[in-house]
Amino acid sequence: MLLKSIHEAADSYDAVVIGGGLGGMTAAKRLADAGRSVLLVEGCPMLGGYAACFRRKGHIFDVALHAFPYGMRKTFRKYWSQDLANRVRPLPRIRYDNPQFTLETTFAESDFTRVLDEKFGLPREAGETFFAACRKADFYADASETTGEFLERFFPGRPDVVRLLLETVAYATGTALDDPAVVYAIIFSNFAQRGTHTFIGGTDLLLSELRNLLLSSGADIVLNTRVGEIRLDLGKAAGVVAGGTFIEARAVVSNGNLLSTALDLLPENSLSPEFTAEMRRVPLSESIAQCYIGIKEGVAIPPVADILFSSREPEYNAESYRAFPPRSFSYSFYYPGHIRPEHRRTEIVASMSASYDEWDKLERSEYNAKKRLLAEAVFRDLERFVPGVHDLADHIEVATPKTLERYAGHLRGASFGTKFPGFRASERLSREVPGLFHCGSEGIIMSGWLGSANSGAIVAGKADAYLGG
Ligand SMILES: Cc1cc2nc3c(=O)[nH]c(=O)nc-3n(C[C@H](O)[C@H](O)[C@H](O)COP(=O)(O)OP(=O)(O)OC[C@H]3O[C@@H](n4cnc5c(N)ncnc54)[C@H](O)[C@@H]3O)c2cc1C
Repeated sequence: MLLKSIHEAADSYDAVVIGGGLGGMTAAKRLADAGRSVLLVEGCPMLGGYAACFRRKGHIFDVALHAFPYGMRKTFRKYWSQDLANRVRPLPRIRYDNPQFTLETTFAESDFTRVLDEKFGLPREAGETFFAACRKADFYADASETTGEFLERFFPGRPDVVRLLLETVAYATGTALDDPAVVYAIIFSNFAQRGTHTFIGGTDLLLSELRNLLLSSGADIVLNTRVGEIRLDLGKAAGVVAGGTFIEARAVVSNGNLLSTALDLLPENSLSPEFTAEMRRVPLSESIAQCYIGIKEGVAIPPVADILFSSREPEYNAESYRAFPPRSFSYSFYYPGHIRPEHRRTEIVASMSASYDEWDKLERSEYNAKKRLLAEAVFRDLERFVPGVHDLADHIEVATPKTLERYAGHLRGASFGTKFPGFRASERLSREVPGLFHCGSEGIIMSGWLGSANSGAIVAGKADAYLGG
């Protein structure tokens, strides 16, 4: 049932899920499907977390529906519905434009292999061997090799190939050359397995379907209510305090940021000093800034690409990609009827790697001036692909790492939660506090649309086993 307030909730549930991102919703659905009584508590007025969209002047802007791997189809079918799975469709026009190369690919392994051959003069076996190694990556194996070493192993002395194969993952997740190769290899091969995909109908349709399916499975949902505390009894999870009310639950699944869950929501001293220290060392992922551009009604723009990676940096370099003002951009083009068959407007969402510190602690006027500079940098670059774009736009809006932090509660606006060490720390959290589980946005791998939803399903299985028969 969709509850009007926390006061309508039962006193006790088998499980409480904190947060209704893709991970939290999937966890709640799986637990309810397993016959558990479940309450999902979401701090915002809407479900979805980072999987959000908003409307302005007849436009719809998707914040995080840019691309996901084909695997999302299976995840929807297995945990949600065949109808949602059927709405997963390829997004085949991925274009790169930078001083080292200009090309277009479907982002599928076979097409990358073609590109490596035709554009970079590398034999097909080189691409095939590389993708075979990516597919074998296992996150429980040794993670000492860095992404840079991994790429150098297959393509020595080829910074252009490194850029081709890393840049897209780097934009989205902030993965850099010194991050573990296993993370890069898993994410890249998930995407490249069958190319990039999207959801036909848009984020709004998806969220309303997920909400309805979740309610039909018997879960209770309360929105606009923050969990301020996870309560323990004899060291085990015993419930949460949500909107000032204690709700008893033997299992608590948190979809909030891993570090906030462990360090802010638990009572002091409930974790061992060693584990607390380990948690404090878990690095957050990088953040993103975005510029949302709505094109005037009836105005057609050239068919540039589905996603365009445009950079004026001479080579890929994580630091320079985060620098301000940005010189490297990822654009998602939403043409009329593109992902929403009935929607006749055009929207462009520009995403850029961003440093939280650049945006933190600015006076309101400085913050707004900096947002204007960011929009100007976007338009200067985009002009190369859509001439006169500034005059064609009727809506321009900028989101910064501070915006992300405010809406999804992720510390420092981390777009993918925690980096790789967060993956193991999350698993250990359940051993430290029996009955407490964390899902979504961890280790980069269990993040993104696919990783977060799968993480919710996996964690729900563990919580269900914990609750027992
Ligand atoms: C700008 C941007 C673009 C992206 N683009 C893509 C993309 O193209 N493809 C892709 O696969 N991924 C993308 N991602 C990443 C992807 O959107 C996220 O990894 C994924 O949606 C995270 O899901 P999650 O389950 O971890 O939950 P989150 O989205 O992190 O949501 C967590 C929820 O928990 C709630 N919450 C937290 N604490 C509390 C509390 N104490 N009480 C109550 N509620 C609480 C929050 O309000 C939030 O709703 C993007 C992310 C960003 C920021």
